[in-house]
Amino acid sequence: MGKVIALATPVFFALIALEYAVGRIRGRSNYRLNDALNSLSLGIMSQVVGLFTKALAIGIYAAAYSVVAIRELPASEWWVWAAAIVAYDFCYYWNHRLGHESAVFWASHVVHHQSQAYNLTTALRQTSSGALLGWIFYLPMAVAGFPPQVFAVAAIVNLLYQYWIHTEQVGKLGWFDRWFSSPSNHRVHHAVNDQYVDRNYGGISMIWDRLFGSFVEEDEKCVYGTRAPLHSWDPLWANVEVYTDLVRRSRQATRWRDRLATWFMPPGWQPAVPGGPTWQKPHFDVSRMRRFDPPMGRTARAFAVVNFVAVLVGATALLWYSGDLPFVALLAASLAVICVLWLIGAVMQGRLVPLHAIALEALAALLVAAAVAARADPQPASRDAAATQWCP
Ligand SMILES: [Zn+2]
Ligand SMILES: [Zn+2]
Repeated sequence: MGKVIALATPVFFALIALEYAVGRIRGRSNYRLNDALNSLSLGIMSQVVGLFTKALAIGIYAAAYSVVAIRELPASEWWVWAAAIVAYDFCYYWNHRLGHESAVFWASHVVHHQSQAYNLTTALRQTSSGALLGWIFYLPMAVAGFPPQVFAVAAIVNLLYQYWIHTEQVGKLGWFDRWFSSPSNHRVHHAVNDQYVDRNYGGISMIWDRLFGSFVEEDEKCVYGTRAPLHSWDPLWANVEVYTDLVRRSRQATRWRDRLATWFMPPGWQPAVPGGPTWQKPHFDVSRMRRFDPPMGRTARAFAVVNFVAVLVGATALLWYSGDLPFVALLAASLAVICVLWLIGAVMQGRLVPLHAIALEALAALLVAAAVAARADPQPASRDAAATQWCP
């Protein structure tokens, strides 16, 4: 998975450059440097964290497959691959729908929706905690007997397909918008307008939305983001904000039933006060949405761009070589990447001046040096020597 994303990275950035150029030529580019770098930072962080968690998700699937598969579908048959793409799309629909309609799943998925812009960088804005619970929705595929490698490819196809639909530069596409996930119907999905919220969950196909009553067409102008805006460029906070809110609210509840319900009811749910009305989604006035755009000086912009390019190159190399690195080196290099991403956010937000950020980066450089030292660790050789002692 990491290698596929590393290979796709130049294509992602070429298309971002194209979208930006087209937007500028048309006079309606919606790119802001801080927003774009923040979304891309969250994408990098999710891939780096995924080096540790994706194996868990695939491992659980493989374990479930070996125990509960009712039969083994042959990976050599083309129809198994086609059926896997459809089955994955169906499971993805429910994963995504619960990602909006149940608080604990929203706590993870919210990251993808925090941007108040809508462009190709938004597509790469992904959660780092998706692997924790997301696997639950795909267990029916293991029961049906789709081999793990077929499942993994279907997952990548679904993910990569969704890249191109995150753009305002492609208008309505007629019949295509009603049957397939497209820029128009996915703009609706990212909007907070009353008639758009919690609609159009489809990954590749819109059939599931049409079957289960969640499809709506785009008509009025979309306002993007979340109804409880993050207002921060901190990639760590972006990933934990809703979880911490859930912990706080469930601790405030007086009954165990309510504590548990806080996690599984819709986001923002509150237990009813004795004798009071039951909870309803609060009214939301879209015209009062405030854009988060703290000012950035020239030095801060230069720091953000230079560091982002460096961390992008480093993280792509990490994804490519992750399989060859000892665990300690992988962990140290991953922490260094996350540290730099956090620093970029802190400088863009004005929490740190670039000079202090550079000093902290020296610390991150030490982590990388430790990673390189661990790479050169002669331990495997000594393990071989130990093994040969036991050979007859
Ligand atoms: Zn969503
Ligand atoms: Zn999206």
